Amino acid sequence: MLDYHLHLWPHHEHDTPLRVEQLARYCEQAEAAGVTELALTEHLFRFRQAEDVLGGFWDDGGIPPALAESMAEYWDFHARTDLDAYVECALEAKEAGLPVVIGLEVDYYEGRMDQVARLLDGYPFDVLLGSVHWIGGWRFDDLDDPVSMAEWSVRQVDACWATYTVAMEELAASGTCDVLAHPDVIKVAGYVPDAPAEWWDRIAEAASSSGMAAELSSSGWRKPVAERYPAQGLLERLVARGVPLTTASDAHHLDHVAYRADDLRAVLASVGVDELQAYRARSPHAVPVAPPPAGTGSRAAERSGV
Ligand SMILES: [Zn+2]
Ligand SMILES: [Zn+2]
Repeated sequence: MLDYHLHLWPHHEHDTPLRVEQLARYCEQAEAAGVTELALTEHLFRFRQAEDVLGGFWDDGGIPPALAESMAEYWDFHARTDLDAYVECALEAKEAGLPVVIGLEVDYYEGRMDQVARLLDGYPFDVLLGSVHWIGGWRFDDLDDPVSMAEWSVRQVDACWATYTVAMEELAASGTCDVLAHPDVIKVAGYVPDAPAEWWDRIAEAASSSGMAAELSSSGWRKPVAERYPAQGLLERLVARGVPLTTASDAHHLDHVAYRADDLRAVLASVGVDELQAYRARSPHAVPVAPPPAGTGSRAAERSGV
């Protein structure tokens, strides 16, 4: 099992020191859940280097002033750390023998993915997650921001899913990243169309035609939608097209590392998947879904709704 989506800092923190000891604790907790390899995937927008290249992107396409102001504040708060120091810390952890690979979670920036690729070129990344968290400058998944959440009451759910799907298609086609993270995160706040099949088909097709893997993430279970990513209908479409999978917790602190890994195992078994995709230097290779460590397997079987 993998935990291929890990953050070092909660969103409300910055200027937190980078320490190999923190990564060692992540690895210990993961190992106890039978998770044998971790990918460090901090958000690209937490680094000053991103601010230099991408800052102000939200003004590209006619965003309402309240959302623009909210996004400007959000970026100013988050883009504080040095990308080189992050990579050095991850390299140090690797050299110390910890089972980690180096990555980032990269957002989709319409019309700017060439700039993103140039920014990341030359770093020793093993895996890059591609995510859509924003529609234009609207942070549709920022549950803590009332300005962002208010938008859900003035927009049509189908239109939001349509725009999200186009962004996912463009992100996949850009070839900038390796894994589509939380493929249906647009559902995070609980807004799901009555008939999502068209969007599921298109997202699965985008993954398949780009050669990207897709992520099976337990983080949705912690959100208002109370459902993992992707939903069963999307997962089945991905598997039917032969899209490789990773598993992920999307932890932003130690408590969530390897979150519900046993339930993710049960989901994989339900669709007949017994291999995951891991990466080195952005080249994929298959790894087996290992059985759960002794003493944890029964918990998955007892749960419902996986
Ligand atoms: Zn994300
Ligand atoms: Zn994340």
